Amino acid sequence: MKNKEAIKGGEFIVRDSEIDEIFIPEEFNEEQRLIGQTCQDFLDAEVMPNLDRLDAHEPGLMPSILKKAGEYGLLGMSIPEEYEGFGQDFTTSMYVADILGGGYAFSVAYSADTGIGTLPIMYYGNEEQKQKYLPKLASGEFLGAYCLTEPGAGSDANSGKTKAVLNADGKHYTINGQKMWITNGGFADVLTVFAKVDEDRALSAFIVERTFPGITFNPEEHKMGIKGSSTVQIFFNDCQVPVENLIGKRGDGFRIALNILNLGRVKLGANVIGASKIAINQSVQYSNERKQFKSLISTFGAIKYKLAQQVVKAFANETAVYRISQNIEDAVQRYLNSGMEKGQANVEAQREFAIEAALIKVFGSEMLDFVVDEGVQIHGGMGYSSETPIERGYRDSRINRIFEGTNEINRMVTADTLIKKGQKGVFQMFEEAQKIDITKLPASPSFNGNYFENINASIKNFKNLLLVLADAADKKFGRQLPQEQEVLFNFADITMLAYVTESVYLRVKKLEIMKGEESNKIYKDILNSFIFDSANKIYNSGLEAIYSFVDENEQEKYIHALRYYTAVKPQNIKCGRRNIADKLIEDNKYKF
Ligand SMILES: Cc1cc2nc3c(=O)[nH]c(=O)nc-3n(C[C@H](O)[C@H](O)[C@H](O)COP(=O)(O)OP(=O)(O)OC[C@H]3O[C@@H](n4cnc5c(N)ncnc54)[C@H](O)[C@@H]3O)c2cc1C
Repeated sequence: MKNKEAIKGGEFIVRDSEIDEIFIPEEFNEEQRLIGQTCQDFLDAEVMPNLDRLDAHEPGLMPSILKKAGEYGLLGMSIPEEYEGFGQDFTTSMYVADILGGGYAFSVAYSADTGIGTLPIMYYGNEEQKQKYLPKLASGEFLGAYCLTEPGAGSDANSGKTKAVLNADGKHYTINGQKMWITNGGFADVLTVFAKVDEDRALSAFIVERTFPGITFNPEEHKMGIKGSSTVQIFFNDCQVPVENLIGKRGDGFRIALNILNLGRVKLGANVIGASKIAINQSVQYSNERKQFKSLISTFGAIKYKLAQQVVKAFANETAVYRISQNIEDAVQRYLNSGMEKGQANVEAQREFAIEAALIKVFGSEMLDFVVDEGVQIHGGMGYSSETPIERGYRDSRINRIFEGTNEINRMVTADTLIKKGQKGVFQMFEEAQKIDITKLPASPSFNGNYFENINASIKNFKNLLLVLADAADKKFGRQLPQEQEVLFNFADITMLAYVTESVYLRVKKLEIMKGEESNKIYKDILNSFIFDSANKIYNSGLEAIYSFVDENEQEKYIHALRYYTAVKPQNIKCGRRNIADKLIEDNKYKF
């Protein structure tokens, strides 16, 4: 690591990482563990006993719990100390999001408040704005919301029609328009509102207080899940906003909106860690109580398979989230050392890792959907009853694939940004691809190294497959490639799985040094299971891509390359999964 140039965002596709370049959750220090415990205590005392009352929208309950979180210091975790926050680093703030992610609708309200509701001011606000709002947001005196989406402007966020016009006296903007799906909108005191000034093509961002004249709030939306979170439409009718409440410069809004979403995506990856562990605990505990055919259902292979797969995917997501967190943290430090201002350093670091943020948003949200879905299945009919908590988890999970950019948009961001960075030469993606001659590949890889070398060889092959296919698609479609969304989706999935598999490999390799070979066996089972699944999914994505665009007379050679690049050393996956399930069943809790 020493003297080595730091890895760039997306560069993992052509560059290996070493174990000392990644942070793993086993490395949390004492202070971070204490913060984690405070979050857990808060959830147990203030949130979990109130889930039904929250979902019934008991008036004032959610804001009062958020304000209590402020008293515990949980709202100001990443707000700098000079603005009365705790100035915790990025990884610690992700750990907080991870634990509080177990709080169902509360976790959405918390994330919206401390993330998209606070960060536009923290990263882009001027000194006066930060002094005025951040201490109150840190204490919970003010709660925050983020107003980007409109009825006609969802994924295409820059197409919003909300308008801001400077008044003749030059002291206020008059805002007119409508926002929808605004989390915390029912009670937030401070709203970041995106609107276009005059006929501008780009958005601008404004700090709007709830009490400003000309705002009305619709009643709460009726939702499938996260029912306890507030989601409303907001109308701006000649709303008067002081000129000093413009964030950044006129026209900066879209850039602000997108950069804040980059952070929201990693944070969502962290949120689903906590949620997945709770769902796994519910699943294993039920399976350890429920008897059928005179046996506990946890003794059945089919249930063990489900429990093991839940653990493997949750472990993989957690691993990748903390790898990205540390990359972002390191990049923040680099930018600070180069003299950049704190807010800007954070924004630049998050922008640099936009590919990783997008792919972990997709992986994490789909992981949680898998975990809660299998959780319901393990509960059988009881899983369909609103008396069991897994039912709430199932409904609450679904939103994660929709907000913070839908998974379709994030798959496109992953593939498109990677290819564009490669084309611009940010890293040598196409140059590396052109060094590969797939006609010279042997029948199958030899796998004659040690355990970790063989795994690493497979991961390199996953990446090589992406390089070869992306190069072929680039040659075939040129500038039209972004129109080939199906193919881009295939590339996004290969990229995502290569990244997450590499993350698991690095964590398990690091754990072998930290824990020794014997204690690491179970983690190798996790790695074996994950790489096996990844290889199969990558094979399917690769095959779809080949049939989608490779000329018929060329397909055979690409399919040979596909088989070669997705081969993994055979392992007894069933036994490995049983080991994982048996540990979970014995602990009766996720303890990996
Ligand atoms: C509970 C909840 C809370 C929310 N909280 C907030 C909030 O606090 N603040 C805020 O501003 N917004 C919020 N949102 C809005 C959310 O971010 C949007 O719903 C989301 O961005 C999708 O926009 P849309 O609903 O208009 O769907 P659309 O953009 O209409 O998408 C419909 C479908 O088309 C797909 N699609 C769209 N464009 C493309 C494309 N170019 N290529 C391929 N597929 C495409 C989408 O992936 C999706 O499958 C929230 C939404 C919900 C449901």
